[in-house]
Amino acid sequence: MSGWMVSFETAPAVGTILTADDQRFRLEAAEPYTRRDGTASALLTWSSSCPTCGAEFEVRSGLRTKSLTRRCEEHRTAGPIGKRSKRIKITVVEPPEGGGE
Ligand SMILES: [Zn+2]
Repeated sequence: MSGWMVSFETAPAVGTILTADDQRFRLEAAEPYTRRDGTASALLTWSSSCPTCGAEFEVRSGLRTKSLTRRCEEHRTAGPIGKRSKRIKITVVEPPEGGGE
């Protein structure tokens, strides 16, 4: 498990908030799919706002990913700001509703 920025066993509920340092990512959609080897997985769509310009953007990931894009399309290619491998603190905030199981 070490080295994963995001690691879920199953797809989290839509509305789940993930924070990486001070940046928030909100889960907009989770589409289940089956990998070619038969393993169940999911494609997660996160929305966030660019820390450089504030523009909203969406980024997709699998259940596990080592990195999430943290800037809009314009700024993600602008420069190697995130190149330094700094340890990012990830917190997952469950959505307020959806309990009961
Ligand atoms: Zn931007």
